[in-house]
Amino acid sequence: MSIENTSCLFCGESESVLLYPETPGIQELDPQPFYQPNHPASGHFAITRCKKCGLVRSSQRDDAALRTQLSQQQEENNQADIRAWKSTYQQRAKLLSRKTIPGGALLDINCGTGLFTAEMMRKGWQAVGIDSSDWAASQARELAPWAQFFVSPVETAIFPASSFDVITFWDGLEHVDNPKKILERLTSWLEPGGLLLMVLPDITSLQSRLMGPRWPSLLRQHIWYFSPVTIKRLLDEQGYELVSIQPVRSRFTFKKVAQRLIPSGGWPGLIGNLYNLPGPLGNLSSWFSTGEMLVTARLKFL
Ligand SMILES: [Zn+2]
Repeated sequence: MSIENTSCLFCGESESVLLYPETPGIQELDPQPFYQPNHPASGHFAITRCKKCGLVRSSQRDDAALRTQLSQQQEENNQADIRAWKSTYQQRAKLLSRKTIPGGALLDINCGTGLFTAEMMRKGWQAVGIDSSDWAASQARELAPWAQFFVSPVETAIFPASSFDVITFWDGLEHVDNPKKILERLTSWLEPGGLLLMVLPDITSLQSRLMGPRWPSLLRQHIWYFSPVTIKRLLDEQGYELVSIQPVRSRFTFKKVAQRLIPSGGWPGLIGNLYNLPGPLGNLSSWFSTGEMLVTARLKFL
């Protein structure tokens, strides 16, 4: 297991400029706490922008085997977090409903414990979820026994060609080795005219610009930092027409937000106290705009 260098997804090897230097000591730190759902450690490798095309990326990443192993750690069984995620997915289901006719076949990539898949089933969709974690799939099957869940990485999953009307991929594309290859797989499963919806961090968002190196989406496990311009380029290459890019909010508990904002080593004061709040106060949740974008694209007819 090792840390490897990355190159630009569009240009291959090319010159890049340093945007944010790596978190001090990150090369030597144990990677495990960075991948835990409650983020006991935070930080990132050096983040650079390609001189030629402008794509921002982490200049290094943990190798795929290690990332798979660490990202499959069980999510906390924290009811307050689950309630917050449920609200987030209900909101995304609402946004999706405004964009298409309900009731089609939907594939939910990286479905986790099935909260969104279950919500779409309730709304009358034929929803199928896929996740590489056995544990997540077993939770999902308990939550929505009437839905179909598959355990497989996207790279080796098999679905009939053009078999879905909508594919959703929440908070995932920024984590994969090769977004082009992943999108190629999804595209083969999507019907021409079908919709692909993704949520991912926007490196040009107001939050990113205002917070700079403290933007909570700068994470060791994020490899790609797309913007509306670079995600459009990627989707163009794959045969999509961009429908919309809009900022999207998620619901988080205050405890979660505090955890994400505390750099390793701790942050005293109000936020730190909030983090330590016992019981119901820390479990309160609210909507937060963290600089993520909802990207909607339609697969063109040939
Ligand atoms: Zn480039």
